[in-house]
Amino acid sequence: MTSLSCSAIVTAANLGSIESGNHGSVGPIMSDRKYTQHFRPLWESDSRFKGWLQPYPGDSTKARCKVCNTTLQAHLKTILGHASTKKHVETMKSSGSKVQTTIRERLHCVQNDQRE
Ligand SMILES: [Zn+2]
Repeated sequence: MTSLSCSAIVTAANLGSIESGNHGSVGPIMSDRKYTQHFRPLWESDSRFKGWLQPYPGDSTKARCKVCNTTLQAHLKTILGHASTKKHVETMKSSGSKVQTTIRERLHCVQNDQRE
């Protein structure tokens, strides 16, 4: 039985004492801690953002809402936040997001007000 989980420990223990490793991955890790969020193309096809979210030209850490004409940070949280603002929702309505609105309105109409 070869225990795979042990090999990591052994490697760590041997660090520095054995061969200046060709294993590479253990070297001084570049300060990669700052986590910069970039615009993800898949957001554009996300049903929640479809039709209004765009990459910001020239700055991949930003995004644009084209119906509000607003620049947003390319953070999912920020974008989701924007999507739920009244302003955005209203603007979406008035700019005619056809399909969904139509369906919603139909559903509303189904509530029957008929009294007999
Ligand atoms: Zn918006």
